[in-house]
Amino acid sequence: MSSSRSTGTTLGQPPKPASCRDVVARFGDLLDGDLERDAYLAVQRHLRQCAPCAAHLAGCQATDHLLRWAFDADGT
Ligand SMILES: [Zn+2]
Repeated sequence: MSSSRSTGTTLGQPPKPASCRDVVARFGDLLDGDLERDAYLAVQRHLRQCAPCAAHLAGCQATDHLLRWAFDADGT
């Protein structure tokens, strides 16, 4: 009797600023300073609310630093 079934309309889907996957995928550009300002801000905002991603970025930064250090063997 009750035939009030809502058809699958996608309503009220909030625009996701950045998913974890999105953010992680941008780490390379972020570390290279290659991100556009909007993307950079979106990533930063995500990192503030997402501990796993922040930790992951810290790991990437450490690795990046080590790699640069290894390649930059110019002696000192
Ligand atoms: Zn995340």
